[in-house]
Amino acid sequence: MSEPSGLAPYACHPLNSRGRRLFEPEAPTRTAYQRDRDRVIHSTAFRRLVYKTQVFLNHEGDLFRTRLTHSLEVAQLARSMARTLRLNEDLVEAIALAHDLGHTPFGHAGQDALNECVRLHSPVDAGDDEVQGFEHNLQSLRVVDALEERYPAFDGLNLCFETREGILKHCSSTNARRLEIREPAGVAHRFLTGGSPSLEAQLCNLADEIAYNAHDIDDGVRSGLISLEQLDGVPLFRRYRQQALASHPHLSGRRLLFETIRLMLSAQVYDVIDQTRYRLAEAKPQHVADVRASGALVAFSPEMRDGSGELKRFLRESLYRHPQVMETTDRARRVVKELFLHYVQQPDDLADGREGQRSVTRRVADYVAGMTDRFALKDHVRITGQVLFP
Ligand code: MG
Repeated sequence: MSEPSGLAPYACHPLNSRGRRLFEPEAPTRTAYQRDRDRVIHSTAFRRLVYKTQVFLNHEGDLFRTRLTHSLEVAQLARSMARTLRLNEDLVEAIALAHDLGHTPFGHAGQDALNECVRLHSPVDAGDDEVQGFEHNLQSLRVVDALEERYPAFDGLNLCFETREGILKHCSSTNARRLEIREPAGVAHRFLTGGSPSLEAQLCNLADEIAYNAHDIDDGVRSGLISLEQLDGVPLFRRYRQQALASHPHLSGRRLLFETIRLMLSAQVYDVIDQTRYRLAEAKPQHVADVRASGALVAFSPEMRDGSGELKRFLRESLYRHPQVMETTDRARRVVKELFLHYVQQPDDLADGREGQRSVTRRVADYVAGMTDRFALKDHVRITGQVLFP
């Protein structure tokens, strides 16, 4: 398979890939990264994303983002920036579509609850190579490395190193050391040595932030939990709302909101492209190895970094910690904890077909993390007889 033309020398070229954990012959018509993208799309975990919470629980409304639509928006933003920067679009798309595969039901509340459960029940005989707690980035990697059951010769999707590197966005040094035991000098290595991932991975990381900041404004206003007046206190938002009104003085309501978000999104995308070009011109990487040895090269300008930070803080305080959201997430936490406790006490009840797995704790965590919101709610009613979400 020939390489995509027009790629920058510091982009990830599929023919120079560090390869798959298990060797596979190349596909006749697709590059290694196209193949990774396709494997992600055909995975079971990917289909589950449609019923997993981003901020609002799946059943709260049909128009709110889910993990699936969020992942598609991240892929769109990352691809469009990748093309301009001459980075590998297929790799960017594979990473973006896979980055949230390890999320639990009920978003971050579900993750926090599961993390607490796993830490409280960590088996005394856990090996040195067993990761601690529960964290969705590590779980996304676990899904593509081990949990998907589709192929005759291996567990997981056997993705390329570069795709897996992009999926493991964050990792504590404790867990990095544990992952290193299983995969020496592998995807966790940079968390111990301070290196950077590929530009494609860096791009997806920033596209994730741009996407959720923008769509959480939209969903927040749609839900009625935050108002346009409140948003006017956020400098970044106010600036583009004024810009929208300058071009369209009679614009109001939903269209004004959409136009403001659209202008803000475009400005952030152009800002990243400009700042990244500037950093690339300074650092002059000739190869992806130079990228891995540099600091962050894909970045916002300092002004946009501040603006995005203020917006993030606003969303955290006004939306993610809104009493109505907190009340829902409290109940969601309880669902996850009670499911976990039930299955830890009665592992025979697990319908995952993984009896051979070493620790019951990890097996239960995998099972509960894989649940969609609605499956978790149904299962919780079946087990406890209590209806927490009527
Ligand atoms: Mg995300």
